[in-house]
Amino acid sequence: MTPVHIIWFKRDLSIHDNAALSQAARSGPVVPLYIMEPDLWAQPDVSYRQYDFLYHSLRDLNVELSRLGAPLVVRVGDAITVLEALRQAHPIAALYSHQETWNMWTYARDKRVLDWCKHHNITWHEPVRNGVVRRLKSRDGWARSWHTTMSAPVIAPPHTLSGPTLPSDKMPKATVLELDTTQPTTHQIAGRHAAQDTLNSFLTQRGRQYRYEMSSPRTADHSCSRLSAYLAFGTLSIRQVAQATTQARRHIRDIDPQHAKSIDSFYSRLHWHCHFIQKLEDQPNIETTNLHPAFRGLDRHGPEHPHFTAWATGRTGYPFIDACMRYLNETGWLNFRMRAMLVSFASYHLWLDWRATSHHLARQFLDYEPGIHYSQVQMQSGTTGINTIRIYNPIKQSQDQDPKGQFIRKWVPELAQVRDEHIHEPWLYPDFPDGYVLPIVDEKQARKFAADTIHHLKKSYQNDPSTRSILIRHASRNSPDRRPAKPKKQKSDPRQLDLF
Ligand SMILES: Cc1cc2nc3c(=O)[nH]c(=O)nc-3n(C[C@H](O)[C@H](O)[C@H](O)COP(=O)(O)OP(=O)(O)OC[C@H]3O[C@@H](n4cnc5c(N)ncnc54)[C@H](O)[C@@H]3O)c2cc1C
Repeated sequence: MTPVHIIWFKRDLSIHDNAALSQAARSGPVVPLYIMEPDLWAQPDVSYRQYDFLYHSLRDLNVELSRLGAPLVVRVGDAITVLEALRQAHPIAALYSHQETWNMWTYARDKRVLDWCKHHNITWHEPVRNGVVRRLKSRDGWARSWHTTMSAPVIAPPHTLSGPTLPSDKMPKATVLELDTTQPTTHQIAGRHAAQDTLNSFLTQRGRQYRYEMSSPRTADHSCSRLSAYLAFGTLSIRQVAQATTQARRHIRDIDPQHAKSIDSFYSRLHWHCHFIQKLEDQPNIETTNLHPAFRGLDRHGPEHPHFTAWATGRTGYPFIDACMRYLNETGWLNFRMRAMLVSFASYHLWLDWRATSHHLARQFLDYEPGIHYSQVQMQSGTTGINTIRIYNPIKQSQDQDPKGQFIRKWVPELAQVRDEHIHEPWLYPDFPDGYVLPIVDEKQARKFAADTIHHLKKSYQNDPSTRSILIRHASRNSPDRRPAKPKKQKSDPRQLDLF
């Protein structure tokens, strides 16, 4: 039997810009494989909504692979058991998959797969998928190398694929995996065509007011790119998006400078995408441990505290917080500023431990990407030790981002009859409706307690060597090469928050 080259699809569900696929296809007969790992789907950070999107993304991938001549083989089980069963049936020449930086569970699984490969003398080729560098020695020069990766040609899919015909397992039903099937699925359509349409409509029309409309949940839904889920599942690569963005900017820079500025802001965020994933690659315990040692003894409430349920179900008594949470729980998406506000409110006002709140959010986000997620959650919880402490005032955010309360009334129908002037603090007025809850904490008092505690800790470690080592390891270096077209010094984006 001719040995086969296994292409293991992970978070790169596309035949385009797929180095693992192209390397394997050049080497001989292939088996395109997806391993559906029930143990992964038993982790606390994944959900039914994501599983449903995965299922549809795999169907789309299968159509594309079948056209090339080698349908996707889906196998259900532990990765080692699946790979070993394949090895028993067919000699394996090599294994190909992109380097993956995902959660603690996949990190541990990949270590076991590496041992298995070594034991059976199978070479595991792991090309890079994005700008994230494994075993990075220093952040110096990282931004430049990211830019080089983004400028390299997008890899075309192979013309044909050939290999043995192997049977697939059926994807298990979500109920068998004990996923919570009461969670609404997303309206976002999986697959390459939908992803490409989303990218095109953003670059040519929707993104024109991106800079000004990304902050309010009333407008962000339309004016943000909405590409995050496609990037998280790998329907599109960051490089494909970066190159399309550069091209679009070239077309519009002279005819529509405002649109060009929005495109610049968007391009910076593509850079952030990898910048944050790089942190988790460099330090996997960002998922589980307060980044700065000064915060490791911080005693915040766990998920058993009643504040947790009130927050997670959108019943805190703060209309804008509750509207954002209910919107997220229903749709699977929320804009950046409101994600930050939900975490800030949970970690500061409600004094909840981010390890509990981050899992709830991870399950809601269709675009859950651990490297971005945990780094952002720690930033917004004040535990990195190197960022400005930013405590969002939920009443001010409500007044700024939803002045007339349209978004609030849509998602918190109990407040439908409350007047515009009362909508941000309805508890102060006589038209407070029976069906809604009173605030579970006093905003000012809760904020003061949190600010005092965190600032006191921050002072105590000001000259601590650990602060410097976190800065050296993780902080972004100013780079002139973030803009897509003109590599000159970037003006600060008014909506840009700290990078660490
Ligand atoms: C607490 C918290 C948790 C988050 N968790 C995730 C997550 O799990 N997955 C995720 O993709 N994003 C996460 N983000 C970042 C950001 O909110 C989302 O990327 C964005 O809202 C996705 O919508 P979009 O694709 O329309 O974004 P756009 O504004 O159109 O941005 C385009 C792309 O740039 C990247 N990007 C945008 N903002 C950021 C940022 N601040 N940091 C890093 N990359 C960014 C994303 O890949 C995004 O898809 C989180 C932010 C916060 C505050």
